[in-house]
Amino acid sequence: MPGFELFGDKERQQVNDVLDSGVLMRYGFDGMRNGHWKALELEKSLSEKMQVKHTQLVSSGTAALTVALASAGIGAGDEVIMPTFTFVASFESILAIGAVPILVDVDDTLALSPEAVEKAITERTKVVMPVHMCGSMADLKALKAICVKHDLLLLEDACQAIGGTFEGKPLGSYGDLGCFSFDYVKTVTCGEGGAVITNNDTYKTNADHYSDHGHDHVGKDRGAETHPFLGYNHRISELHAAVGLAQIKRLDEFLAIQKKNYSVLREAIQDLPNITFRKVPRGGEESYAFLSFFLPNTETAKKAHLALGKAGVDACFYWFDNNWHYYREWKHLIEKKSLGRLPVEVQKQLPDYSKSDFSASDKWVGRTISCLVKLGWSEEEVRERSKKMAEVLSKL
Ligand SMILES: *Cc1c(COP(=O)(O)O)cnc(C)c1O
Repeated sequence: MPGFELFGDKERQQVNDVLDSGVLMRYGFDGMRNGHWKALELEKSLSEKMQVKHTQLVSSGTAALTVALASAGIGAGDEVIMPTFTFVASFESILAIGAVPILVDVDDTLALSPEAVEKAITERTKVVMPVHMCGSMADLKALKAICVKHDLLLLEDACQAIGGTFEGKPLGSYGDLGCFSFDYVKTVTCGEGGAVITNNDTYKTNADHYSDHGHDHVGKDRGAETHPFLGYNHRISELHAAVGLAQIKRLDEFLAIQKKNYSVLREAIQDLPNITFRKVPRGGEESYAFLSFFLPNTETAKKAHLALGKAGVDACFYWFDNNWHYYREWKHLIEKKSLGRLPVEVQKQLPDYSKSDFSASDKWVGRTISCLVKLGWSEEEVRERSKKMAEVLSKL
């Protein structure tokens, strides 16, 4: 997955364009910038690639989620449905605007279960936020139908699945809003960065202003601009955007490598009697950033994970026990440990997650192992790895 594995001259050239002018900011300084507008160019590239009208670049994937929610007018006390299996950024971005994260089970797609979502809807629910974990997606068709029926927003977190598609549409573009991360370990990286994509003109305008202190970006005098509403600083720098611009042009190359490596690994283990694969919903195509599979039970999965590590098959994850990606270890959220006082709405409405029953999620995540698919492996390395994986897993 990490695009940094293949950093080279293209990234260097883009960064040098920015350093040569010395304009590290995405706005203003028109005369000094030698015609370089890296953030603007990257936004255009992303909109084209993702087949949407608008992209708003920001400083991280977490910022993208926050800005996406804010741009749609989500705020204090609004409930946002999110999965039990995701990165902590999901609830961080929701809490950041005073909204309430409602955790909901995942199914064998390893993403939001549509049935569980429907059961969790209340009169305060405003958004359903599926997270396309580990290169594959939630059943977006079913989730969209639920959102239409209950008049909710569909916000896709595609941070780990850039390049995947659903019904022919790029992940992130199927819902009302989509988010990407370009942090250092993502498929497309620029060090730190993120993006919101949408076809909605109002959300784009709101995201544009909100992510830059409310600036309306009218005219050529930044100091004279007005601020139609309160904002914040989630800007990306021109240096980061430059790296991202080089990387996005290589997305198809990266996806082809991921698919090739993924296929070798999958073929090596697919006929083993104790292995089944995570479900990809009908109409979906993975980004192939990870290969995720199920063992028959939690105990075997733990053993398999240990054995893979011992055999030198690195970068395989057992999410069930992970501190950052599964609800079981989110003690800070469960115990509401914040530095300062949380908004009253959050205090009142946040469910007592110490009493929640997420056994439906445990049933799948407890059996899951996900192996990262790297870009930098040689053919020899992938073959070696696939042999080792098959050997270890067939011995269990
Ligand atoms: C990486 C990631 C994020 C957050 O991105 P940052 O750029 O690191 O803030 C959000 N959601 C998911 C699923 C991620 O993997």
